[in-house]
Amino acid sequence: MKKNISPWLHQLNHARIHTKLTADITTDVAIVGAGIAGISTAFFILKNTDKKVAVLERFKLAHGATGHNAGQVVSYFEIGFAHLVQEFGVELATEGQRAIEQAWTLLDEMYTDGGLDIPLSRFVGYAGLVSYEQVLWHLEDSLSRQSAGLEVEPMRICAEEDFVEKIPQKYSGLYSIAPAKEVLATLETKQQKFVAVLSSQKGCINSALFCQEVLQYLLGKYPERFALYEHTPVHKVILHQSDALLDAGTHTISAMRVVLCTNGFENLHIINEHGLEVDAKYHHTLSGKIGYMSGYLETLNKTPTAISYYTDPTPGPDNSYYYLTRRSYEYEKDTEHNLISIGGPDLDIEEKHVYSHEDDYPEEHEQKIDEFVREVYDTDPNKKIDYVFTWHGLMGYTKNKVRLVGIEPQNQVLLYNLGCNGVGILPSIYGGKKIADHVAGKLVAASIFDVPSKKE
Ligand SMILES: Cc1cc2nc3c(=O)[nH]c(=O)nc-3n(C[C@H](O)[C@H](O)[C@H](O)COP(=O)(O)OP(=O)(O)OC[C@H]3O[C@@H](n4cnc5c(N)ncnc54)[C@H](O)[C@@H]3O)c2cc1C
Repeated sequence: MKKNISPWLHQLNHARIHTKLTADITTDVAIVGAGIAGISTAFFILKNTDKKVAVLERFKLAHGATGHNAGQVVSYFEIGFAHLVQEFGVELATEGQRAIEQAWTLLDEMYTDGGLDIPLSRFVGYAGLVSYEQVLWHLEDSLSRQSAGLEVEPMRICAEEDFVEKIPQKYSGLYSIAPAKEVLATLETKQQKFVAVLSSQKGCINSALFCQEVLQYLLGKYPERFALYEHTPVHKVILHQSDALLDAGTHTISAMRVVLCTNGFENLHIINEHGLEVDAKYHHTLSGKIGYMSGYLETLNKTPTAISYYTDPTPGPDNSYYYLTRRSYEYEKDTEHNLISIGGPDLDIEEKHVYSHEDDYPEEHEQKIDEFVREVYDTDPNKKIDYVFTWHGLMGYTKNKVRLVGIEPQNQVLLYNLGCNGVGILPSIYGGKKIADHVAGKLVAASIFDVPSKKE
């Protein structure tokens, strides 16, 4: 059985000293969770307000989903834009989509301020479709995007497909026709089952290394206002009228505001002493999935890419897909390779299941991913593929699959930037900026990310 070995954690500085909470403290803002959401939230609060910030992490910086993902920087919602419109109406959906697209600029801001020099590749990435139903689903999405004034992702459909004749007139202008040879070459596959390809801006980052570098910057820039405490689990948050007490086992933290950046699926209790109960609502709003990934190294002879392969012909937000990234990767000291990493179908987990990063990597997932790679991407039957990295991570999914960012309506002391979902790098950064706006007392417009006020 393989272990959970992530390529992103492999690149961290393992000599970094992890400071634990060793006394009771008082701060303006307590952030629970030091993944990309917690670190981005700290960054924007420190930059845009004069508040003191303490981040509390039960284990180690970026060792949650942030250290176990695919590292694709993308701005789409897995449920699709058309679905967002159905759920929230065109205006809010459009604002929400724009907000995530603009988070590229926030990512740049963090890079520039922090003087970061770690790799961030940007390129046009692709998604391959295998059925007419999927083509229609994505065309409907493009139509909604076009009506909302958003950029439409170009789609090329294989000229050889019979269904080309049947595509409804309303979608004309939203796709082009290309020889199958070209579509397959774009998807870097010989698999004839792919019938269309979508293109969009994508990127690749090691989000754990990103957190580490931003942390170093924050520690240097705000020594008086910022602290990170690792190996400091928060068990309980007690909310009062205008402040909160956090129980971290042997010590407590008093704070004016608390921001949960916990991914979502955690054993933490919230006691609201000023208003209605929030604990049950918080726990029932989120469900868990485990994502599995495998990675192998190659000679550095191809440019970076990110390709999603929608191999299940049924369209829709609930279907799993395979996602592949290729990027240059420094493995052992000073040796550059290409790292190919592939994620496959997720696994739903029961509410009571206790997920652990220590769990082994099940053989069946390695096999599934290997079958996919050999069928679609790296098809030489004689090639020996050695998966140096096999890893899994927990994703907290919100009911509507949209990140939860904002103030808890039952008690304004509490805020959230959580609900990891399948795509969470840009949404976490967007969330960090929005939480900072709340903390700064700015007027923040209603959005699709708001916390629902009614009890579920
Ligand atoms: C397999 C996989 C592939 C993915 N691929 C992509 C991708 O390609 N692109 C993309 O955009 N997104 C992807 N994601 C999602 C993305 O990684 C997440 O949305 C993002 O990392 C979430 O960051 P976070 O900070 O919210 O959560 P996390 O990184 O999970 O951080 C939460 C932190 O909170 C800590 N914590 C929890 N409870 C407590 C407590 N009580 N006390 C103290 N600390 C606590 C945890 O230990 C953890 O460190 C993927 C996720 C997975 C699992």
